[in-house]
Amino acid sequence: MVEQNYFLLPQDRLPKAWYNIVADLPFEVPPLLHPVTREPTRLPPPLFCDALIEQEETRERYVEIPEPVREVYRLWRPTPLVRARRLEQALDTPAHIYYKYEGASPPGSHKPNTAVAQAFYSKEAGVKRLVTETGAGQWGSALAFACNLFGMECGVYMVKVSYYQKPYRRVLMEAWGARVVPSPSPETRAGQSILERDPDSPGSLGIAISEAVEVAATHDDTKYSLGSVLNHVLLHQTIIGEEARLQMEMAGEAPDVVIGCVGGGSNFAGLAFPFLRDRLQNGVSTRFVAVEPTACPSMTKGIYAYDYGDTAHLAPLAKMDTLGHTFIPASIHAGGLRYHGMAPLVSALHRHGYIEPVAYPQLAVFEAAVLFARTEGFIPAPETAHAIRAAIDEALAAREAGEKRVILFNFSGHGHFDMGAYEQYFAGKLENYEYPAERVLEALKDLPKVEEQ
Ligand SMILES: *Cc1c(COP(=O)(O)O)cnc(C)c1O
Repeated sequence: MVEQNYFLLPQDRLPKAWYNIVADLPFEVPPLLHPVTREPTRLPPPLFCDALIEQEETRERYVEIPEPVREVYRLWRPTPLVRARRLEQALDTPAHIYYKYEGASPPGSHKPNTAVAQAFYSKEAGVKRLVTETGAGQWGSALAFACNLFGMECGVYMVKVSYYQKPYRRVLMEAWGARVVPSPSPETRAGQSILERDPDSPGSLGIAISEAVEVAATHDDTKYSLGSVLNHVLLHQTIIGEEARLQMEMAGEAPDVVIGCVGGGSNFAGLAFPFLRDRLQNGVSTRFVAVEPTACPSMTKGIYAYDYGDTAHLAPLAKMDTLGHTFIPASIHAGGLRYHGMAPLVSALHRHGYIEPVAYPQLAVFEAAVLFARTEGFIPAPETAHAIRAAIDEALAAREAGEKRVILFNFSGHGHFDMGAYEQYFAGKLENYEYPAERVLEALKDLPKVEEQ
């Protein structure tokens, strides 16, 4: 019998619904608060269309995926589940390592799973343009791709340091018809005020969010779009885990540990939540490991508190694991993992003991990326390589313990636009960045004061 590496779902088994974990939580997730009144609030209607505002707060267990969204998903979904046998052999481990390959989408990551849904609902609501921020460019390119398919305009505020470090991602967005602006920009009040204080600001996701939010708030035909953190984004990403559950069944196994890298938490949640459902509903003892960089350790070193989502204080306050909204992390290459906060749902699950966070410095991460590339062939994005590092360490721990462990991680995206980072790694020019304790303490001083009931 051929040893199977690749588990493919036929397209007619593409899941019909996203999974909303809120329906199964044994605790309440603290609500969003209005940035001025500090009262519980919905997502602001000037920024989001009604369908997404409703999804943000729904308690329905399953949300049907609209057929036009499934039709676009079928351009690359279901994505493969792969058994990493060569990696297992290289590690000489009894563990079985599986990964879900989200690099198969046209933009090369999991991000279009939500971009396509957001573009669809916004188009339905008569919106003409979506604006957003992007760090490394993956989210911007996913939204550019999605807007193009639904005949919408797309504006992207791209963190300035990435705009110049990663010109090809900008061109990718432009190829799909988006307009890309380096942030902080003089086009918005938020950008202007940063530039007045620091004309050479490298930008940050927080600043770019403020710019995009401001543009959406001041234009009737424009809505804002966020690529991570919010409940509706995590909801859309659960297509990953719903497929993976069916594929693990095809493989005849169940994961002992599910792993994902975390920036805002969406790819991790997308894979993990459908498996967490089995733990919440049936007490299955699966572990869930969220992996972050030591340079931006919101889960391992941050605090669980209400914080602003953006530097200009326009977005609602969310209770989350945070390093403080004024925290500007070092320019590590995993640009998608540099956000100061973590999804409220992921943070609450961490708080209640369902998620184990770990942090790795970037040299250990690139070492894992290269081992993966030289065994399994695919080149991971630096963000993804954080999950690979943790998967490898789980497999090594299984070897130590002499136990068969079934490990499943999310291959959130390929690294074809990250060759500059690999080049620096090979040249010995990458450095580890530890958590700058004083700077984060400084940033935590700026947390909003919120009295909780
Ligand atoms: C954006 C991105 C991430 C981090 O975002 P999450 O919302 O935490 O998933 C991870 N991997 C890749 C490839 C990304 O593009």
